[in-house]
Amino acid sequence: MSTPRPGSAAAVLGTTGNGVEHLPYGSFTVGSAPPRLGVRLGDNVLDVGTVLALAGDDVSATAREAVDSPSLDGLLACPKAVWDEVRDTLQETLQNAADTDSIVALAVPVAEATLGLPFTVADYVDFYGNEFHARNVGRIFRPHTEPLTPNWKHLPIGYHGRSGTIAPSGTDFPRPQGIRAEPEGAPGFGPSRRLDIEAEVGFVLGSPVPGGRVPIAEAEQHIFGLTLTNDWSARDIQSFEYVPLGPNLGKSFRTTISPWVTPLAALAEARVAPPPRDTPLSTYLDDSDTDPWSFDLQIEIALNGEVVAVAPFAETYWTAAQMLAHMTVNGADLRAGDFFAGGTVSGPARNQRGSFLEICWGGSEPLTLKDGSEFTFLRDGDEVSMRATAPGPGGSVIALGECTGRVLPPVTG
Ligand code: CA
Repeated sequence: MSTPRPGSAAAVLGTTGNGVEHLPYGSFTVGSAPPRLGVRLGDNVLDVGTVLALAGDDVSATAREAVDSPSLDGLLACPKAVWDEVRDTLQETLQNAADTDSIVALAVPVAEATLGLPFTVADYVDFYGNEFHARNVGRIFRPHTEPLTPNWKHLPIGYHGRSGTIAPSGTDFPRPQGIRAEPEGAPGFGPSRRLDIEAEVGFVLGSPVPGGRVPIAEAEQHIFGLTLTNDWSARDIQSFEYVPLGPNLGKSFRTTISPWVTPLAALAEARVAPPPRDTPLSTYLDDSDTDPWSFDLQIEIALNGEVVAVAPFAETYWTAAQMLAHMTVNGADLRAGDFFAGGTVSGPARNQRGSFLEICWGGSEPLTLKDGSEFTFLRDGDEVSMRATAPGPGGSVIALGECTGRVLPPVTG
């Protein structure tokens, strides 16, 4: 798969990171045309329905109808067998030299397309699954207590986010305002002074399950794919409001995701074991008899174009399968378009931390940027961009991203 057939569209259009082994999905428009489900090959986007039509009668009616959609919504409503049929057909067709001219003719340069949300976000759960991050935040927010809360190793802690403020990369937003914790004295109201990022991996769910209860062994039937996620966080608002019910306004103003969803199937070669466990787990979370999988995924974080950290997803303690099992074990329905993020990704080194809260240790250890200036939290006009790479088949590379957003001045009043 890593060497596309000569003369095929895969060979003509594919690039490192976005070859035929990747094929992420997105929702694209050109000019005033209605949005369509697209698939990326190299620096181009292709209408999925049109490519599938080239495969003729071999494609099921269910698959054709699922991709005749402005986004991934149609496909997410289908079972995994349809996801596999569509992906397999795309890979075969894009490798078929007889179709090259037709495919090249319908290719739209990504730079000429407008990319929207790749799917309609149903419910959004944000987990806290990385032990380095949880310990760092514990030390910074609660310096006189044990950094990990007593429940941390027993279940993947999470809270419900605000799905309506999830936006695709490139959607700028004003600095949020709210009631802020102040270093001394009473809390005050105003624009956040400690605006931050959280580099995360988001998991896009489908194949609905009324009544929930998705066992770990069935996670792959429901995790459609991954998308880079920036869970922007106003630390001064968050730190005042979060006890006892968790974050609310400190998080809900904006979450940015990549416009591209990488299919789980594209990351088969990137699977690695999660960190070792040291606490017995309830049956529904116990994966010790299985072959638990995480991903060798390195998330690069750039501030105004300057790379400030590379966060290793493989350090995340809880797996995506455990998080999915947890969020459905109580009987909560799993709906097409449900989405969860795995928690800020951090590693042991300073330049592996996925938030400025951690990199700059609550503001007490500023980062010195290349221009010599000192940085702690985001300033108006700052742009943060995330990309990620993972190993693909045959030595190829899977390039996720990009997930970019810019902070605008606050809208006060
Ligand atoms: Ca988060």
